[in-house]
Amino acid sequence: MELIVLGRSGGFPMPGEATSGYLLRHGDTAILVDCGSGVLSNLFRYVPVTGLSALVLSHLHSDHQADVSVLKYALNMTRRFGTAVADLPVYLPARPEGMVPTADGVLGLRFYEDGDPFEIGGIGVTCIAGDHPVPSYGMRFACEGKTLAYTGDTRLCPNVARMLLGADLAVMDAGGLERLRSDPMVHMTALECAQAAREAGVRRTLLSHLVPFQPMEETLREAQGGFDRVELAMPLASYTL
Ligand SMILES: [Zn+2]
Ligand SMILES: [Zn+2]
Repeated sequence: MELIVLGRSGGFPMPGEATSGYLLRHGDTAILVDCGSGVLSNLFRYVPVTGLSALVLSHLHSDHQADVSVLKYALNMTRRFGTAVADLPVYLPARPEGMVPTADGVLGLRFYEDGDPFEIGGIGVTCIAGDHPVPSYGMRFACEGKTLAYTGDTRLCPNVARMLLGADLAVMDAGGLERLRSDPMVHMTALECAQAAREAGVRRTLLSHLVPFQPMEETLREAQGGFDRVELAMPLASYTL
């Protein structure tokens, strides 16, 4: 599998970047994982709108689904101007109800819950509930003996270990810093990410969901105090597993 970071900003975008979005590819399969603000602009560098196999949303906060409305325009306009476009399968949580995107004749909504496994083009997906102000899920993507773990948005909770266990690559919500702890936490701190990844035996860890007003060097430094196999997710970088 190949993972390309389309957006790594948390909450709102850093200048010239996008909020959460990742492209996972294997052969002809192309899965968009989260679709935050500015993600489509980066996605279309790699895959046309007709080339997506599915969209998987970790949760329904806007920094993870802001571009879904625009994605619907892209599908709709492509179809109207003569290209056959099938409904795009979208895997998502059913709550909060008011945040669920409308299908508008171009999306095929498929609601999942904790522990639900499904398969997209040969890639096995398992959703695992995190702990966040709205229902939010991490995922494990498995293919040909390799596993990608994605935490979605979550504070540190017991299920983070289930998301990460033995993963070859992990993309983690490092939206917090120890220095800026608040109660309750909404995201993990960089140090918590590092410790959880180390305990779960993760081979390589990308710190993502980086909040624009938190210095990235501090995030990296804090995490490396807990584990040496952590790095910042880099925009448009490709990671092979
Ligand atoms: Zn977020
Ligand atoms: Zn969130």
